Amino acid sequence: MCGIFGVFGSPKNEAAKWTYYGLYAQQHRGQESAGIVSSDGENVFSHFKMGLVSDVFKKPSSIENLKGSLAIGHNRYSTTGTSNEFNIQPLLVKTRFGSLSIAHNGNLVNTIELRQKLEEQGSIFRTSTDSEVIVHLIAKSQKATLEERVIEALLQVKGAYSLLIMSENQLIVARDPNGFKPLSYGRKDKSIVFASESCAFDLIDAEFVREVEPGEIIVVDVNGIKARKFADEVKKTFCIFELIYFSRPDSRVFGEFVDKVRRKFGKFLAIENNSVSDVVISVPDSSNTAALGYASTAKIKFEIGLIRNHYIGRTFIHPDQNMRDLGVKLKFNTVGGVLKDRRVTIVDDSIVRGTTLKKLAKLLRNAGAREVHVRISSPPVRFPCFYGMDFPTSKELVANQMTIKEMTAWLDVDSLSYLSIENTLEAAKISLQNSNGEFCDACFTGNYPENVPPNEKNIFQKC
Ligand code: SF4
Repeated sequence: MCGIFGVFGSPKNEAAKWTYYGLYAQQHRGQESAGIVSSDGENVFSHFKMGLVSDVFKKPSSIENLKGSLAIGHNRYSTTGTSNEFNIQPLLVKTRFGSLSIAHNGNLVNTIELRQKLEEQGSIFRTSTDSEVIVHLIAKSQKATLEERVIEALLQVKGAYSLLIMSENQLIVARDPNGFKPLSYGRKDKSIVFASESCAFDLIDAEFVREVEPGEIIVVDVNGIKARKFADEVKKTFCIFELIYFSRPDSRVFGEFVDKVRRKFGKFLAIENNSVSDVVISVPDSSNTAALGYASTAKIKFEIGLIRNHYIGRTFIHPDQNMRDLGVKLKFNTVGGVLKDRRVTIVDDSIVRGTTLKKLAKLLRNAGAREVHVRISSPPVRFPCFYGMDFPTSKELVANQMTIKEMTAWLDVDSLSYLSIENTLEAAKISLQNSNGEFCDACFTGNYPENVPPNEKNIFQKC
């Protein structure tokens, strides 16, 4: 999870503003905290806080004080057990070479071993994030340039990382050799920008150039842009969940617009598991596109049956904690005229714990739906993710604990079916035309990528 944005060479003092917009466009990738570090070539400026981007940078001065033409920013996703101010990114430290800041999307799988080794050598850690391990490895390196120090550090870490690293006058960008998480490279006039998702470029009218390649490092400074591979080729394992749920449909991820792939998931789902119903609805917003693909293939009318409230902030005060199902009702309300006396097919992108879907099914029935059929545009999530998606442990994954028949009864719905893994991969393949890659599908299959084995101990240190 997490969203990152970086800029080099903006017009004077504009870098932080562009980064603010870039983070705002990627708010869906993390809502726990946000931060920006900028540089005017000599001095480094920073502002971080817990909360949404619009809350963190509420005062105009919080952006105006971030001077310079170089900046990186980070939206952090809330993860179990690590919600505190020390973990806000970008991490910013002073090393013997000057300032160093880092924004990380992904999760390392050998953090514990590396951290232990570094602590034995005298390193003192300030946060509980895996990203700080990278900072220490860079700071300890004896190599002559920052680029070489970063490469030496990255060759020691294993797992998922899309990274932005910044000194006073250099921006370094790197993506792990497997390419788990997306990272795009763009341009606006003479300025260079990077973002987890290309939707961030649209907001500032930057043009998408290409994706940062897996195993590639890009150095941007006054001498221009220098790109090269820093690691040996390995099998690419792009996170298929980015296409299923996480990325925005208007982003280009792993070579294709997410919208196109997601519609195909819906199409294949309808071919495999059509339902006899009067209306198809989505769980807004994440399953809208798959539901459209499903409805058009199934030739059933698509309707807006659930309305989502987007404005629940972190500080929202629940009027009465004892009101039943309040949490889901605050987020979703039903449209009676669409649902009453209808046989309803609800398309969702995935089921993790299943508790929200169970409550939604009840809301649909309370609104008068005669039948409720659930169609999921991905396979059952049965295994935890160790590379950055905040899934719970196997025991909390409902599909790990129940059969589909048992889940149908537990959800109290008339039918439940999932898209097969074969068709999920087939649909996602359109995004890989030029990349020679494959997908990580470990949360469905348990087949974790060979060169980055899972590590249960690292499960709560994600970003
Ligand atoms: S385990 Fe699932 S969520 Fe995690 S990287 Fe692989 S596909 Fe993505």
